[in-house]
Amino acid sequence: MISCYAVAMIYDVIVIGSGYAGLAAAIEARQAGASVIVLEKMRAAGGNSIISDGGMAVAGSALQRRHGIEDSAELFYRDMMKAGLGLNYPELVKIVTGHSQEAYSWLTEELGVEFMDRVDLFGGHSVARSHGAVRITGASIIKPMLKRLEELEIPIHYGWHVTGLLFDHQRVTGVEAESGYSFKTKRGDQRQVIHARNGVILAGGGFGADVRFRAAHDPRLNRDIDTTNKVCATSELLVEAMKKGASAIQLSHIQLGPWASPDEKGFGSGPLFADYIGLIYGILVAPDTGSRFINEHSDRKVLSDAILATGAPCICISDDAAVKQSGWDIGRALQKEVVRTFDDLPSLAEFYHVPADSLSSTVDRFNTSISDHDSSLYGRSIMADSLPIQSPPYYAMRVWPKVHYTMGGLQIDSKARVISLDQEPMEGLYAAGEMTGGIHGACRLGSCAVTNCIVFGRIAGAQAAGGGN
Ligand SMILES: Cc1cc2nc3c(=O)[nH]c(=O)nc-3n(C[C@H](O)[C@H](O)[C@H](O)COP(=O)(O)OP(=O)(O)OC[C@H]3O[C@@H](n4cnc5c(N)ncnc54)[C@H](O)[C@@H]3O)c2cc1C
Repeated sequence: MISCYAVAMIYDVIVIGSGYAGLAAAIEARQAGASVIVLEKMRAAGGNSIISDGGMAVAGSALQRRHGIEDSAELFYRDMMKAGLGLNYPELVKIVTGHSQEAYSWLTEELGVEFMDRVDLFGGHSVARSHGAVRITGASIIKPMLKRLEELEIPIHYGWHVTGLLFDHQRVTGVEAESGYSFKTKRGDQRQVIHARNGVILAGGGFGADVRFRAAHDPRLNRDIDTTNKVCATSELLVEAMKKGASAIQLSHIQLGPWASPDEKGFGSGPLFADYIGLIYGILVAPDTGSRFINEHSDRKVLSDAILATGAPCICISDDAAVKQSGWDIGRALQKEVVRTFDDLPSLAEFYHVPADSLSSTVDRFNTSISDHDSSLYGRSIMADSLPIQSPPYYAMRVWPKVHYTMGGLQIDSKARVISLDQEPMEGLYAAGEMTGGIHGACRLGSCAVTNCIVFGRIAGAQAAGGGN
């Protein structure tokens, strides 16, 4: 039973959520002189951020130049707008792409986050610009952020589930929460009220794990479709903001990860092979035809739609030379038998019930396109380090899309202020990260979420500390 006793507390800024966006906002607000508290419904920090790969899209970095990659904020902007089918809010995309380097420097130079000495290409980006945090995990970013919170003496209350936003006339004045919240019972044990002098920042993440809410916006995404998200990725905070008059936009734009495996639960170990190696150097074939059907470098929406349209999990195939060249260790995926190796193509074809002759001609045609530098086959560009598929063992994985990211969310302006249904900024209310909509339009490009969270989290923190609006 929930006790009604509540000790009212007061802070300048309340941040809800302890992922990339919430922690960036909290640090920035505190450094601007505000007293700050972070509320997190889970018993530990990090949300989806801590289980992410920690890949951050940055344009024009010194690391890219060292690897001979030419890039610019303008090219990054064009790539995001193209993948988003022009549905992205241009002024917000300009802010993300124009501040990617600054956000990267903030993480590396001010917080000591370490990135690997490599830059990866993901589908839909014109050039390699994904800067991967060490050990390919968001924990390598979240931990230094948490350390800074400790140094700044910013309290985080875990197990505090925010259930309500409090308003005085038009202005947000605080939040209601249940402390001692258990995700199992979906209940807390005590009601709490916290007042905010300056602002409340909503950084509660996306709703990829909220089957009812996501299926209401895209009926295809019912319980049968798995998700890469943690259980915390639900819609209640978004709905509470909507009830209080916030404008929520593009909620039906829900991204599926085309590189996920139906042979394991959740995100798992397969994407490291399919996303970083198979789709970049290898090919994707339909099991019934043994043929390619899509440019494997396409963005996530194009790929997921094409895979779903085949009606059955497709096979992503690469070879030993590509795996070695990539430098990635896919041992875990092999151990779990999510990725399998084969001595020759006929045995691969037999295992996955793919017509062997057809697969063999598909691979031959692909290899000829590489040697001829011919990008006319499905429009796939031939990269300087493209390789033919000819060095056994061959590596293969079944792929079937899973819900990965929700592009829709709260409408914000360039100052991270939440916009009302009347299209006016709501006083004192800010939002950042996956909780917001409109930045990625119809399709988010890989690695752009980290950039978005850090850029807009910092903006929200600075604005809320200053009293904003
Ligand atoms: C497996 C995986 C891998 C990914 N890899 C990458 C990658 O390499 N690069 C990239 O750019 N993107 C990646 N993404 C996407 C990216 O990680 C997320 O979009 C990003 O982490 C979202 O950050 P956030 O701060 O907005 O939300 P989150 O990190 O999800 O944090 C939100 C927090 O708010 C809390 N919360 C929610 N509601 C309440 C409430 N009512 N009361 C209190 N607390 C609440 C949640 O419990 C959660 O901890 C990946 C996603 C997944 C799932």
